[in-house]
Amino acid sequence: MMFMRIDKLLCEMNIGSRSQVKEYIRKGQIFINGVKVMRPEMQVEEDALQICCNGKEYSYRPYVYYMMNKPSGIVTATSDKKDKTVLDLLKEQLKAQYEGDLAGIPVKDIFPVGRLDKDTVGLLLLTNNGPLAHRLLSPKKHVPKRYLVKTDSPLGEEGLMRLTQGVRIGEHEITLPAEISEADEENTYFITITEGKYHQVKRMFQAAGAKVIYLKRLSMGSLSLDEELLEGQIRELTKKEVADLC
Ligand code: URA
Repeated sequence: MMFMRIDKLLCEMNIGSRSQVKEYIRKGQIFINGVKVMRPEMQVEEDALQICCNGKEYSYRPYVYYMMNKPSGIVTATSDKKDKTVLDLLKEQLKAQYEGDLAGIPVKDIFPVGRLDKDTVGLLLLTNNGPLAHRLLSPKKHVPKRYLVKTDSPLGEEGLMRLTQGVRIGEHEITLPAEISEADEENTYFITITEGKYHQVKRMFQAAGAKVIYLKRLSMGSLSLDEELLEGQIRELTKKEVADLC
């Protein structure tokens, strides 16, 4: 069971700055699950909480989960000096969804689970659930990741066979066997890998004799990219998606 100071929790939910929320509490304007908060130091259990501030209702959840259809050209990081990050995009999208008012929407501590290259598009999970991210990324868990890949030239039977069996990409060990199939379009493939090495799919295809010119992640573990999400859009995971992942 995790506890947190109520003023910190309210800040993290963008309800106000630390001094603003202390002022709200002093004026008796904050209620948690219907009970008036008397002190900013009050410890609350990090659980689903119903918060009322100046008559406005907010729901607190310890963990939040967003699915993004990552567009090309932004980096998978929480901050970057030069490039726009997926976190910048998440905040932008949330502001658009909530008409500029992020009060009650926790964005602090959210990070991307794993990394997609700047030019890779598709499924990216963003959450503040560290243990879940750890499990999904653990090399020991072999969580399957499915990609759509377009190449500059055909792979041929031999290339396909090599990817299936494992290829040398400059690491100590050859890659684990991958599942690969041809899509209807020319030079287009579906590949499922169970590792997550740096530029892994691109390096695997290079080793099998073709250059990747387009890469889209379609799924990670039980989570599949929602086909309704356009590139650059986000949505919260459904309860079922979260339950299936956890
Ligand atoms: N493999 C790659 O080469 N790039 C990605 O972005 C993801 C997997």
